[in-house]
This record gives sequence, structure tokens and C-alpha cells, in this order.
Amino acid sequence: MEFGWTVDQDAYRARIRAVLDRELPADWDSIAVHGPGSDAQTAFSRHFCKALADEGLLIPHWPAEHGGEDSPVWHQFIMAEEIWAAGEPRGPQYMNVNWVGPVLMRYGSDAQKAKFLPPIRAGNAIWCQGFSEPSAGSDLAALRTQAVPADGGYRVTGAKVWTSYAGHADRCFLLARVPPREGGAVGKAGIVILLTDMASSGIQVKQIPALIGEGDIHELFFDDVFVPDDDRLGAEGQAWEIINFALQNERVGIPRYEFSRRTLDRAVARLKADGRWIDPVVQDRAGRALMLCEAARMLVYKVVDGKAQGAAPDAFGSLARWAVVRADNGVNDFMTEFLPDGLLGADPLQQAHHQRAIAAGIASGAAEIQLNLAARRFLE
Ligand SMILES: Cc1cc2nc3c(=O)[nH]c(=O)nc-3n(C[C@H](O)[C@H](O)[C@H](O)COP(=O)(O)OP(=O)(O)OC[C@H]3O[C@@H](n4cnc5c(N)ncnc54)[C@H](O)[C@@H]3O)c2cc1C
Repeated sequence: MEFGWTVDQDAYRARIRAVLDRELPADWDSIAVHGPGSDAQTAFSRHFCKALADEGLLIPHWPAEHGGEDSPVWHQFIMAEEIWAAGEPRGPQYMNVNWVGPVLMRYGSDAQKAKFLPPIRAGNAIWCQGFSEPSAGSDLAALRTQAVPADGGYRVTGAKVWTSYAGHADRCFLLARVPPREGGAVGKAGIVILLTDMASSGIQVKQIPALIGEGDIHELFFDDVFVPDDDRLGAEGQAWEIINFALQNERVGIPRYEFSRRTLDRAVARLKADGRWIDPVVQDRAGRALMLCEAARMLVYKVVDGKAQGAAPDAFGSLARWAVVRADNGVNDFMTEFLPDGLLGADPLQQAHHQRAIAAGIASGAAEIQLNLAARRFLE
């Protein structure tokens, strides 16, 4: 098995690193520690994503007809590794380029593409994802927010929860349910996607204080909010297909192990400098954390390799997601045990990693569900 990179891939990685070295300020870790939805990181993401766009590195994976370069799968992945090793300085905008844009390209009307893709391409759009509700998380199809057909559109009433970036978002990728009509769609088929203007009257955004950073998660309340038909994505019965496509793009391709590995390396350097590395218990625990990072890397590479060869997504993606969460948690546990002062402000990188690690197994969907999927696929 060949694990090496080609000359072309090495050169691509070097190009990305050069841009990161140039664009990330010396105090970047201190900005990141505010959290991806914070004022500080949102403002920085606008500067950083514009710089990436100017370099042709914001959407190289998009098709040329939409301003991308049709970059090969492994290039996309090298890009993701480097961006994640740096702690994801695209902030909230990772969502736009990873899945909102691709979903719009595939399912949007010409008018929607013309309206929504240019700001994403320019690195200046903030979206939020209005999926989860107080009684609909893992069981997303249980969502209750109502979209009642009205003259020229829908009137939306309901509540969403845990919505990242909502405080800064221009648009919400909102899921709602059309009330059953006689002979009409019910269940998953009754869901509609509304690309909702966050400035619409009747929307209330309430921040939820959280350990994971300032201004990251929110409650959203919709009180008779009008959304025009033009902002409905796809047909009413098509929403579940679109959601699955969106989630596939959201969940695959986040190499968080790269950030965990960088954080672990930094921790080991600190322990060496403090003379504590000679302790075999410290080495044992560090080795375990390293093993989790590298196991996650191998599983993710297997998934990316399948994608590069055009294979359909399979349950290895579920195993890879679980392994990535284990790596996040393993490194976090190691540092909490041996370098607790880092969490109290001595190391902003460690704090930023901690914030992401504690939410890793639940944000983007509970990781335990991935084990169900893998067990059904490989063990039944
Ligand atoms: C930091 C963060 C950011 C988020 N951002 C967003 C966002 O922007 N937009 C959005 O819509 N949502 C967002 N979420 C919500 C997230 O998608 C949900 O929390 C997630 O889908 C789980 O839903 P739930 O919280 O209702 O938990 P539940 O589904 O109630 O699960 C609770 C527990 O039960 C377990 N469980 C549930 N079903 C099963 C099963 N079948 N088998 C085994 N175990 C099971 C879960 O693993 C979990 O441990 C975010 C969450 C976090 C933590």
C-alpha cells in the first residue's frame, strides 16, 4: 500500500500552507478561542475567506461553471487537512463552501443560484442551519415547525435549537413541515426547505451561553414569518433527498484529527520543556492519544480513497466519523489530565481544541447513530 503523496499533491499542500502562514495573524489561536460563531472569528472569517477566494483556494472543489476548478478529491482533502490543522479559520463559512453551495448548485433554481452563490464565492456570506428542534435531533423527521402555504409563499411558525452562527447569519437553511392536506404528503415527504432571510419580520434569535465559545449556538423562534415561494428549495416532496445530500457533504471530509494531532504535538513539546516527558505514564497516555489520531486518519483516508475512485458513500464513513470523535476526545482527555492549566488560559490552542472536542460527538448529528449504521451494515 502506498501512503506517500505525489509531487503535485505536496506542491498543493505547500501552496496552502504558504497562504495560511501569510494570512493567519500571530495571535490567531487567541482569536480562535472565542469560538467559530463569535464576533471575533466571524469578522476574521470574512477577511480570511476573501483572501482564500483571491488565491483561488476558497472553492477549488466547485465545478468550473460555478467559479471553481473541479479540483481532484485528494486536493480537496489536503486543503481540508491544512485548514483543520490551523483550527478552521473559515469559521462559519466552512458550511457555505462545503455543503450549502453544492446543494444550491444541484437543487437550486437559476434565480437562487444567481442570488446566493456569488456572496459565497466572494467569502462574504454567513448561513445557519435550521434543522434541530427541541424534540427533533437525531430523529430529524419528527420536526414540527410549520410552514403554512399562503399567497405567494409560506407562513412559518415554530422553534429551532442549537442553531450555530444564527446571530450573524444572513440566511437560514430552514426545514419546516407543511400541514397535511387531503391527499397531500405526510412524514418526511411533508418537509419543505426554505432559504429564509434572517432579516424577515417575526424571527427572534436568542443566544445560548455555552462552553464551546461565544455566540456559537442559539434558539430561533419563528412567529408567522413570511417566506416567498422563490426561496423554497426544490419541490415540497423533495426535501428529504436534498437533506441527505447536504448531510453527506457536511459529515464527510472534516479531518479534525489533524487539529487534534497538532494540539497533541504542542502538549508533548510543553511536557518535554517542563521535564515531565520522562514519566512512562505520560508517554503511555500520549501514545494512546496518538494511536487514536492516526487510526482516525487511516479510516478517513479509506473513505476519501473510495470517493476518489467514484465509489458510493458506505458505512466506512460512519466508522471514520466515530474514530475522529474518539481522537478528539482522546487528545482532550490527555491534556486535561496532564496540562490542566492550558484550559485555564495558559494555552489558547488547547482551549480552542477543548471547545471543539467536547461538542464533536453531537454537533452535525450524534456520533452514536453512526455506530448503529455501521453495525447494521457490517454485522447483520
Ligand atoms: C455545538 C453544536 C452545534 C450544533 N449546531 C447545529 C446547527 O447549526 N443546526 C442544527 O440544526 N443543529 C445543530 N446542533 C444540534 C445537533 O445536530 C443535535 O444536537 C444532534 O442532532 C442530536 O440531537 P439531540 O440534541 O436532540 O439529541 P438526541 O437525538 O435526543 O440524542 C441524545 C442522546 O441519545 C443518543 N441517541 C439518540 N438516538 C439514538 C440511537 N438511535 N442509538 C443510539 N443512541 C441514540 C444520542 O447519541 C445522544 O447521546 C448542534 C449541536 C451542537 C452540540
